[in-house]
Amino acid sequence: MTNSFNWLDDEIASLESRSLVRERREVQSLTAGRCQVDGNELWNFASNDYLGFANDPAVIAAARDALKEGVGAGASALVTGRTYWHAKVEQRLAEFKGTESAILFPTGFAANIGTIVSLVGPEDIVFCDRLNHASLVDGARHSKARFRVYPHCDMNALKTELEKSTDYRRRLIVTDSLFSMDGDVAPLAELASLSEQHDAMLLVDEAHATGVFGDQGTGLLEAQNVKSQNVVAVGTLSKAIGAQGGYVAGSRSLCDWLWNTARTNMFSTALAPPMCAAASESLRLIESEPHRREWLHSASQRVVETLRSQGWEIPDKVDGPIIPVLTDTPENTLNLSKKLQQQGILVAAIRPPTVPQGKSRLRISLSYAHRDEGVDALVQAFANLDR
Ligand SMILES: *Cc1c(COP(=O)(O)O)cnc(C)c1O
Repeated sequence: MTNSFNWLDDEIASLESRSLVRERREVQSLTAGRCQVDGNELWNFASNDYLGFANDPAVIAAARDALKEGVGAGASALVTGRTYWHAKVEQRLAEFKGTESAILFPTGFAANIGTIVSLVGPEDIVFCDRLNHASLVDGARHSKARFRVYPHCDMNALKTELEKSTDYRRRLIVTDSLFSMDGDVAPLAELASLSEQHDAMLLVDEAHATGVFGDQGTGLLEAQNVKSQNVVAVGTLSKAIGAQGGYVAGSRSLCDWLWNTARTNMFSTALAPPMCAAASESLRLIESEPHRREWLHSASQRVVETLRSQGWEIPDKVDGPIIPVLTDTPENTLNLSKKLQQQGILVAAIRPPTVPQGKSRLRISLSYAHRDEGVDALVQAFANLDR
């Protein structure tokens, strides 16, 4: 008898030989800014919990209160799954982002896929930054629209592409706001003005920027003072907000359209209500505790300056809690991350296909939960590494 899955072992062996295999690690505990792996207590610099809400007592209490009523939503939001908790967090998100309306999705990934597929189809065209998140790329592909990739943040290239593309029914530009693997920010004001000149829709994925940028902490659209009717903002409840789920904030007609057409919402179970309750509490804390994001930005500056002075290569444009340390080969990257781990520091080793060949890196994610103590430990561990 043959086993038609035999090819899997060869493929995995091939990944292993190139230092590209991903370990299915179990984390024994996740507490504020810390984790336990293989029995060792580590500072966790591999989480996107930028503000420390995932383990915040007030956020946990909010989730626990909702949990008294039950665990799962039990159905799609369109069937019977949309509870008081869903409606409340949608309303809070709309207020927070300054939009008419907001709509939840099961994840940020699902929000991007569902939204892009609902906005464009085969008669349309999507323009995508070269470093956009996989969910934006997959959404664009799945929509069957024409797909154009422009070089990272290259507004001249995008302008040329827009000028050439007058024959399409609709045009959609999609971009991350804070880029997840490079830690730099998109020129949103320029993107918005291009979208207006060329009558294009602009989807801004605020996954890493929500809670982190802007005086009110609402994201990079706020920080760059972009107010355009052409913009749709997407985000996640699972990074700085510390819970789980995705959302889209925009006009009432946009949210109505998504409610009626976005299949990743329609055919997927609604978020667990305790996640919505936790997210509502985090939104309240983002408003009332600006010192969390202020600390984050000053800690980021300190880490970037200190690591550069130690001789590490950090891209010029890093602006926020994601700090890539460029290390070239996958082997070298994996090696350095192991040595950091021996010193009590967990940092993600990012390798192809997450980043292009030759662009492997250590990716440091800072969190308010680290406080100065964690940052001290981080920079000391890098100083101790022999390269
Ligand atoms: C993490 C991420 C997502 C997906 O969000 P989830 O809620 O984790 O599914 C989407 N876009 C970007 C830019 C992200 O970094």
